[in-house]
Amino acid sequence: MNRLMRFSPFPSSRPSAVGRRLRLAGAALIAAAVFVIDTFTPLSSAVAVLYVLVLLLVGEELPGRRLWVVTLACAAMATTSFAFAHGEDVELAPTLRLMVSLAALGVAAFLTSRNLAAREILQAQARLLDVTSDAIFIRDAQGRVTFWNRGAERLYGWSRDEALGQDAHRLLATALPAPSEDIAALVARDGAWQGEVSQRRKDGAPLVVLSEWILERDETGAHALLESNTDISDLRRVDEALRRSEARYRTIFNTLAVSIWEHDFRPVKAALDELRAQGVTDLAEHLARNPEVAREIKTRVGITDVNATALKMMGVADKAGFFQRLDELLPETDDSFAQFLIAFEAGAPRFETETTVRSRTGEMIPVMVALNFPSDAQGLDRVQASIVDLTEQRRMQERLDRARAELEHALRAATLGVLSASIAHEVNQPLAAISNAAGAAQRWLDRETPDLDEAKEAVADVVHAAAHAAEVVRGIRGLIAQTPADRAPLPLDGLLAASAGFVRREIAEHGVELILDPQAPDTVVHGDRVVLQQALVNLMLNGVQAMSAVPAETRRLHVRSRREGGEAVIEIADTGPGFPPDAADRAFETFFTTKPGGMGLGLAICRSAVAAHDGRIALLPPAAGESGARIEVRLPAVT
Ligand code: ADP
Repeated sequence: MNRLMRFSPFPSSRPSAVGRRLRLAGAALIAAAVFVIDTFTPLSSAVAVLYVLVLLLVGEELPGRRLWVVTLACAAMATTSFAFAHGEDVELAPTLRLMVSLAALGVAAFLTSRNLAAREILQAQARLLDVTSDAIFIRDAQGRVTFWNRGAERLYGWSRDEALGQDAHRLLATALPAPSEDIAALVARDGAWQGEVSQRRKDGAPLVVLSEWILERDETGAHALLESNTDISDLRRVDEALRRSEARYRTIFNTLAVSIWEHDFRPVKAALDELRAQGVTDLAEHLARNPEVAREIKTRVGITDVNATALKMMGVADKAGFFQRLDELLPETDDSFAQFLIAFEAGAPRFETETTVRSRTGEMIPVMVALNFPSDAQGLDRVQASIVDLTEQRRMQERLDRARAELEHALRAATLGVLSASIAHEVNQPLAAISNAAGAAQRWLDRETPDLDEAKEAVADVVHAAAHAAEVVRGIRGLIAQTPADRAPLPLDGLLAASAGFVRREIAEHGVELILDPQAPDTVVHGDRVVLQQALVNLMLNGVQAMSAVPAETRRLHVRSRREGGEAVIEIADTGPGFPPDAADRAFETFFTTKPGGMGLGLAICRSAVAAHDGRIALLPPAAGESGARIEVRLPAVT
């Protein structure tokens, strides 16, 4: 490098062709003038020494033999002039002058040729500098650029002509990592300096370069600096991206709500390799027969890092105090590590297990552990496992189990309650019928001439209603237990008529007009007669009761049936006030009622009854011009 410095004062650009031609012409002119003066004036050989000017002017542009040709031509011209001026008459003084002139020419030619040779070497070296990809430039003592290689042109965007003579660091907006005086002092002391420097390209783009400075002093003490700059912007960017990603990863690691600890699994691999070398082929079986093997390998697994959540979970104050080895936190009884070894040996990509770890305070914490095995052995020294504390989950599970048991108990109690309430509700109607019929029988008998026939009929009604009551109780019990018994084919229209029969008295008592409109003579449904009848009776009774709020002459109860594809449809509509707005959504809920003495069971029982027969029950919007309630029951038709 030091040698290279010597070409620093060289003009960096080649002389222009025009200048060169001018100099050649000047040199020819000088040679001609000297020749004329030397030949034709009495100055004689005194001016011949001026041929040296020719060499000084163009000598450096005459490489190789051409220099010597020109030198010989000059010598020949001097000798010719001498011969012409002095002829045979040779005097000492002019001869000596000629000799001196010729010697001067020789010395000038020799020096020029040496200079040329040295310069060629240096130019070759300069070309070499141009070839390197690094940006190299030289600045003189004032900081001005005296050399600028192609690498510099490429890196900075400034051409050689633009850069030459400029203050290098101003041109490149160089920002040094330390005060420039400090760096100058270092350069003066060591002769060199190296550091990272920020610069700008011609287009303003920022650069980070690794800058190497070498100081060169010449004999006069003047100095120049060679600066070689390597672009490391990409490197820095990659470094920065890496640093950021590492920082991000650290943040995640430290702030994650899941515990993480990092293991060094290299000893595990070594141990498994060892086992294989000893001829163990079935690891699972080997570990089952020798449980101490897994325990021993466990003691070799180091824990290299943990996050804050892990510290908290394990009751440890800081990282330094955390468990050093896996066996310190996995209890003796743990068998998850053996499973881990088997998964590791099998080359599984990940491993997941539930186990228990012992905290610093000795508390046994149920955890779920999950880890991914690194794709190659390189990453084995830092394998992270995420650990989720299952304590809360287990507690929740226990609470849930307890709550479920309590609920089941409550449900059983509620079922009993519903059962008894439902029986009371449903038996009410037959009881009323019994009481009515019994009262009638009594009245027929109390007459002066008792009407035995009527009394007999009334007593028959009592018997019928009592039988019905017994059936109702059985049906309700079956319904609540969700096992409707006694399924049989039931003609739909017959079912309708029978149900209407049960509410005959209530309808008459409330002055309601019953409009029975059976339109499905051949439709048969399959089901429990009593249960379905009871559902329809409830719907009809609801309608009758609702209509007590409207004038007697407007009370009409429509009971219709029809067939729709595979479905038997029953519609029960009244001319009452319709469902209260809040009841529309909740009417089918158990114990929902808007009536002062209501039990809120009628519709709930209807829904259960219909559902037990794979049917559906729904409220319909009132018919056009009507305001009453409309309920539709759909049951699968068997024929
Ligand atoms: P309950 O008759 O004991 O109140 P239900 O389950 O039979 O219990 O009815 C629940 C509620 O639905 C009633 O309180 C009433 O508000 C409403 N409802 C039922 N049927 C009718 C109807 N035909 N017209 C208007 N509202 C009705």
